[in-house]
Amino acid sequence: MSEFRDLFIDSSATVRDAFEHLNRTARGILMLVDEQDRFLRTITDGDLRRLLLHDGTLDSLLEQLPKHESVVVPDGASPEAISAVMTDRAVRAVPVIGADGQVVDLALQDELTKPILLSVPHMSEYERSYVTEAFESNWVAPLGPNVTGFENEIAEKTGTGHAAALSSGTAALHLALVILGVERGDRVYCPSLTFVASVNPVLYQGAEPVLIDSEPGSWNMSPTLLEATLARDASQGHLPKAVVVVNLYGYSAEFNEISEICRRYDLPIVEDAAESLGATYHGRNSGTFGDISVFSFNGNKIITTSGGGMLVSANERYVERARWLSTQAKDDAPYYLHSVVGYNYRMSNVLAGIGRGQLRVLDDRVNQRRAIYQTYRDALSDFEQIEWIDEPPGTRPTHWLSVMLLAKDAGLDAQTLIGRLGDDGIEARRVWNPLHRHPLFAEFEFLPHADGSVADDLFERGICLPSSSSLAKTQQDRVIASIERALRRK
Ligand SMILES: *Cc1c(COP(=O)(O)O)cnc(C)c1O
Repeated sequence: MSEFRDLFIDSSATVRDAFEHLNRTARGILMLVDEQDRFLRTITDGDLRRLLLHDGTLDSLLEQLPKHESVVVPDGASPEAISAVMTDRAVRAVPVIGADGQVVDLALQDELTKPILLSVPHMSEYERSYVTEAFESNWVAPLGPNVTGFENEIAEKTGTGHAAALSSGTAALHLALVILGVERGDRVYCPSLTFVASVNPVLYQGAEPVLIDSEPGSWNMSPTLLEATLARDASQGHLPKAVVVVNLYGYSAEFNEISEICRRYDLPIVEDAAESLGATYHGRNSGTFGDISVFSFNGNKIITTSGGGMLVSANERYVERARWLSTQAKDDAPYYLHSVVGYNYRMSNVLAGIGRGQLRVLDDRVNQRRAIYQTYRDALSDFEQIEWIDEPPGTRPTHWLSVMLLAKDAGLDAQTLIGRLGDDGIEARRVWNPLHRHPLFAEFEFLPHADGSVADDLFERGICLPSSSSLAKTQQDRVIASIERALRRK
């Protein structure tokens, strides 16, 4: 998908350049701009052909195009107003012009009418070449140069030391527990407020999750409750085997406290960084806080391989063990010989190619998601019915999903607001339903704060808004307008 700036062309370009540019960007429209990106006119195939018919040549400069008043809309026009202009003038794309004459967006009819989804894949210009290379060299297999390349590039980018590319984040979490020796009857501390995939692997191992409440600052595992529960369980002689810590919506958990507490009890941490690839916490990258950490490249995540995950660690032996376990755990013998249970969890070389392309734009994707969050906050700041969580000092969350809370007296509840957005073709979702509320976890212990469960409160009031890094300005304006309507109407 091209950004609107990719459609800029200036008057010194030739007709031939413009045809090529149209071909490459495949939107059927270009925007002629001056040196300050100020709008001059739109250019279509038809405009170029007309110039050729009126004694222009392919080498004619675009400044020879006849003057022409293009259809434009001013910045700040409502989605309805833009739609009306498009219908009226029978165009499918309209430049949005700022006060100083600069192009600030290109509104597309599709973006004004098509459903807006929560979080969709966002390809760059780089993935195809890696995937093509895999086909051309017949590395259409698990393992191969893209797998190794992707592992090295993730390890380098995040400073995690070593990495094993796997078939999903869930598989990576499962192997992390296997490698740390979690077995039937063991206990594993986990946050309650998370996606079920964070904790299912504990059940795969026949171990017992102990669900801990969130702290209100980051929404992640409460260090205070972690410490109190460890003190209690130490005195009863049944300490957990490991602690799974999740960085929800790309906000890092409070590792300054959590790591220190776990070190005191000599407990390994599994960091579920599925939503926080590209986040930092006090200068350190997400994914470097666990004895083993895990990323996900599922289709809805910050970057994707369509499906995939990565197990990372500073400990090379852990990562080698993960590679071995994920390829059926063959013993070193001249024939098939197995002494431990293995898994078929490796990432394919084709999908790793997508990952390598995606990783090259990770910083852009994080910045885009962060900008989307800030736009929601700024646009909706007048509504006292909405609360936002501030970024804890020293942290840089990814805002994988932009999440807002409805105030207790907002006058409508989360489900109602989500329904209203749905009526406008906009997909919003509740925040993760805390695991202690699911039948699957009914038999396991949940430790809430004494003055009420923070996880339950966040679930009652939280709403995840469309947050794709490819979300166009006009689309986000539609979401904002829909929320405003719902809150005014109640
Ligand atoms: C997506 C996600 C997972 C699972 O990753 P998959 O690659 O989909 O298996 C685990 N934990 C959290 C917090 C997630 O958001």
